[in-house]
Amino acid sequence: MSGSGGRPHLAIPGPSIMPDRVLRAMNRAAPNIYAGELPDMMPDLISDLCKVACTKGRAAIYIANGHGVWEAALANTVAPGDSVLALATGRFGHGWAEVAAARGLTVETLDFGRRSAVDAARIEATLRADKAHKIKAVLATHVDTSTSVLNDIAAIRAAIDAAGHPALLMADCIASLACDRFEMDAWGVDVMIAASQKGLMTPPGLGFVFFNARAAKARAALDRVSKYWDWTPRAEPELFYQYFGGTAPTHHIYGLRAALDMLLEEGLENVWSRHDMLARAIWTACEVWGADGPLRLNVSDVARRSRAVTALSLRAPDGQRLRDWLEAEMGVTLGIGLGMATEDDPDATGFFRIGHMGHLNAHGLLGVLGSIEAGLLALDIPHGLGAVGMAARSIAKQR
Ligand SMILES: *Cc1c(COP(=O)(O)O)cnc(C)c1O
Repeated sequence: MSGSGGRPHLAIPGPSIMPDRVLRAMNRAAPNIYAGELPDMMPDLISDLCKVACTKGRAAIYIANGHGVWEAALANTVAPGDSVLALATGRFGHGWAEVAAARGLTVETLDFGRRSAVDAARIEATLRADKAHKIKAVLATHVDTSTSVLNDIAAIRAAIDAAGHPALLMADCIASLACDRFEMDAWGVDVMIAASQKGLMTPPGLGFVFFNARAAKARAALDRVSKYWDWTPRAEPELFYQYFGGTAPTHHIYGLRAALDMLLEEGLENVWSRHDMLARAIWTACEVWGADGPLRLNVSDVARRSRAVTALSLRAPDGQRLRDWLEAEMGVTLGIGLGMATEDDPDATGFFRIGHMGHLNAHGLLGVLGSIEAGLLALDIPHGLGAVGMAARSIAKQR
């Protein structure tokens, strides 16, 4: 006997749960790409994307995953031989730095480890030392999905300004957009990247680059940009195909339209509050479990925890055992421990993650927490008692 029948629940940090409304919007015959509804949808789609990003800047869309927009952001702002400063608080910070290095950029990486956020003082000192202003851009990850560290993007902008440095600030919000509060213009971000499959609740396949006038100036100053990655025609198209540099991602556009409608109907502030409420319930449960057993939240500083994803550890290989048990017995899939390998645990089998981005409600989340508790019991993993009740209490108190 297994309890995993019925609709499975994907609790990984992307792709996230897809709302029925998004799925229904995509379930249609191939639309006309020459004229009519689909091309007519684009201006509002772009302006609603910018609302979610909290920017009055421009947006370019790519048929790509997050790795694609890592590339796109760099292709339009910096040239081989330029220097960039990469801030790493986990695997994804290093990933963007690797893409930059492969493009022929000189990359200086400030590594803040796997459990803490960036230190603005170190960023400021590094930029002050760059008297010749060789560094053209600072690459920051808002939420590093591997560690679940949430970085203070406004503080990074303040550090750049305090150093009197002209570098562009680029933020990777692929995990955090529409989960953790993010305000592109108010926080002084020049380039922001996102993707469809996390907080935006749409299947993987669309990547977004948002940019302001400063970033557009950097683009204009480049000698050349490869035709496919150039954001200019995508952001200022004369013809429909130019939005995508080729054939439109027809069904993804309908799915994204439904997802944006849902986000804007709920209201961005309410979306952020819902994710805050759910994240606090998770942290509460994890602290109770951990009070009498090996379970640990990866990020101890509450202010630096993401509301999109939570990275956790047990004793190896219990992270892997718990994931396997939940999938087989409860129909719940948890995220793997990504980029968390240690000498003692080279396959990171002690680690796992709860994805809570996108289309998640309180009963869905309490189901995940109850399933984890069942797994801890079934696998004889020691843990504090009453965690799910305390999570329910946390939700009740926040209503
Ligand atoms: C998911 C993610 C990426 C990579 O996105 P892919 O779609 O897997 O290429 C990059 N950065 C962050 C912060 C992410 O969460």
